[in-house]
Amino acid sequence: MSELPESVRIREVGPRDGFQNEPEVIATADKIRLIELLGRTGLRRIEVTSFVRPDVIPQLADAEEVLEAVRLPDPVSVSVLIPNERGLERALAHRDRFHEINGFLSASETHNQANVGRSVDESLAGLRVTFGRACAEGLRCEGVISTSFGCPYEGHVPAQRVLEIADALVQGGCEEVGFGDTTGMANPLQVREFFGAARDALPGVELTAHFHNTRGQGLANVLAALEAGVESFESSFGELGGCPVPAGATGNIATEDLISMLHEMGIQTGIDLGAVIAASRAAQEVLGRPLGSHVLSAGPVVWR
Ligand code: ZN
Repeated sequence: MSELPESVRIREVGPRDGFQNEPEVIATADKIRLIELLGRTGLRRIEVTSFVRPDVIPQLADAEEVLEAVRLPDPVSVSVLIPNERGLERALAHRDRFHEINGFLSASETHNQANVGRSVDESLAGLRVTFGRACAEGLRCEGVISTSFGCPYEGHVPAQRVLEIADALVQGGCEEVGFGDTTGMANPLQVREFFGAARDALPGVELTAHFHNTRGQGLANVLAALEAGVESFESSFGELGGCPVPAGATGNIATEDLISMLHEMGIQTGIDLGAVIAASRAAQEVLGRPLGSHVLSAGPVVWR
């Protein structure tokens, strides 16, 4: 087995990826309280909201309010998801409140059309403008490629195609590229092979794995990514988040499950597992339903 990293970086995406997929709109004050709880866990990267159209995603219509009100410790890098130039324009009115943006597209044409009504090339052209503008504003840019490991409409997505899109994002100004297993189709062998190729194809670029636990393979895929040298992951507290296709599918791997596994393996995150569990418990109370995370129900491993 290849050598595993000593430490990894984790971006918490629950306040965006999770909250946006809740059937009901969470009260702004509750969002702020939960994000601030996450800010006290040692997490150094938090995606707090998204500047998508409020009529399309009413769950995040309070992006401005959340961004302005939330108080996070200085070392926390705050990121927001930006769908297009209009979204960036809205976000830039609050330029001093965040450090990074995340722009996204899908690797497969059909998923991209279904998701944003554009071809992949049209999305790339738009993202280049958005990232160019964001870079000029001193913002760090992450490009996220959905359906990197498979598409619910098209099936197999060639790794070569994903890497071409990643390269275009890097040319457009991205320092980091996230690869999303949007509907949980990835398997560990595929992941290890993919990230091995990605490291060769994209030297000097931060490669981030964004796995969903749709079919229970999220953490197995994390291990495979670690073995391929990946040191950056995205996850969601409480396993919040889902995806409209396939209907009812569970979402991101849970931050507390991820941290628990990494710490048990001797890989540092700088994050307090108990504090993340407390934040997930608070989210559970706000939502009034049990969340999917394993460590939230079982508790941390205790060696007696
Ligand atoms: Zn996700």
